[in-house]
Amino acid sequence: MKLAINGGEPVRTKKFPAYRVMGNEEKEAVCRVIDSGILSRFLGTWHDDFFGGPEVQAAEREWGEFLGVKHVVAVNSCTSALYCAVGATGVEPGEEMIVSPYTMSASATAPLIYNAIPVFADIEAEHYCLDPCSVEARITPRTRAIIVVDLFGQPYDREEINAIAKKHGLFVIEDCAQAPGATWKGKCAGTLAHMGCFSLNYHKHVHTGEGGFVVTDDDDLAMKLRLIRNHAEAVVEKAGVTDLVNMIGFNYRMTEIEAALARCQLRRLPELLKERQTSCDYLNTALAEIPPIMTTVVRPETTHAYYVHPLKFDEAVAGVGRDRFVEAVKAELPLTELREGEGVKIGTGYCKPLYLQPLFQKRIAYGSKGAPFTSPWYDGNVSYEKGICPVTERMFEKELITHELMRPPMTHEDLDDVVAAFWKVWENRHEL
Ligand SMILES: *Cc1c(COP(=O)(O)O)cnc(C)c1O
Repeated sequence: MKLAINGGEPVRTKKFPAYRVMGNEEKEAVCRVIDSGILSRFLGTWHDDFFGGPEVQAAEREWGEFLGVKHVVAVNSCTSALYCAVGATGVEPGEEMIVSPYTMSASATAPLIYNAIPVFADIEAEHYCLDPCSVEARITPRTRAIIVVDLFGQPYDREEINAIAKKHGLFVIEDCAQAPGATWKGKCAGTLAHMGCFSLNYHKHVHTGEGGFVVTDDDDLAMKLRLIRNHAEAVVEKAGVTDLVNMIGFNYRMTEIEAALARCQLRRLPELLKERQTSCDYLNTALAEIPPIMTTVVRPETTHAYYVHPLKFDEAVAGVGRDRFVEAVKAELPLTELREGEGVKIGTGYCKPLYLQPLFQKRIAYGSKGAPFTSPWYDGNVSYEKGICPVTERMFEKELITHELMRPPMTHEDLDDVVAAFWKVWENRHEL
């Protein structure tokens, strides 16, 4: 059978269905807020309204009940959530935070906002989260925190990393933007560390257009997070806050409309999550029989939220490079509705290791003179050289495949087309 990449008939031409999570409940919620006349009710002063309006507070309460966490702080993105969390650790300029090179860039650049230095540790070859051994090897007297990422929906190695953090007196910040509703021993992702950061941007499992949460069980941290969210500097005096460290605030406030949407979206999350897990289980079984493909290895005692479906590719077994193979699979498959501009939703390598970005290679962050890397506050010698995280580089260059052709409402028939495309390319690999 001639491959589509060589001009043959593709496996499928009818577009895959769009991922849509907004319905009547959301429409009614938005109208309810507009009719109320209160689109935000935050005041950046010490007042009842410092904590936000009725929808914001209800969303925080409901998500807190769902997650099993004491404090939920609604913000306008996960990026803001990470910035709040970094500030709340009390980090000093020139201290270090251990971060992942294989994630959305904000979870690695967040320390820089406070003039702290990101130090990259390598990832696990099986699960793509931070590797505890690599983390421990990167700890110095300057380390303040570890920012872990539940990448692709897989909770990080909670046992090992939290033990390392405890031993060295470090904070752990969990970026669970890709893992809402995933669990470790029944406990929700986002609540596995000192603070957890959620995203509600429109790429995520559930969304409010833009939005996020930062959660914690710690009363002190929660207050700091709320202050940083909402003009701390203007509030501390009347609020009686005496610890002024990192108490320059921002406006990271969530609107009432977003909060109303976040309440509706929470009710959809369990069902949407189950559908993804069922689809990925189905694909894991079907694709495992293709020799060069290694399907997802889920960490024991965790559930995987499958933000995307990660696969690994063995070029030696395939006799053809990953990128060429995936290009051929993509040629067999159609675009996804509403995401036509993004091509067939299969990717190779995920993201370039973040330390290879110009920001780190040139060490230009604040101003033109290398601050904070060259500031008198920093006396370490962090490296951003190619080669510092070999597993990450291998995943990026050769092994990792991620795809989104498993999101609801993909049916078994839709999934079978995805499997058929992989099989067709495997069986006709001599054409490549
Ligand atoms: C999406 C994402 C973010 C950022 O989320 P925003 O809400 O867009 O700021 C951070 N970390 C990870 C791992 C993400 O996937």
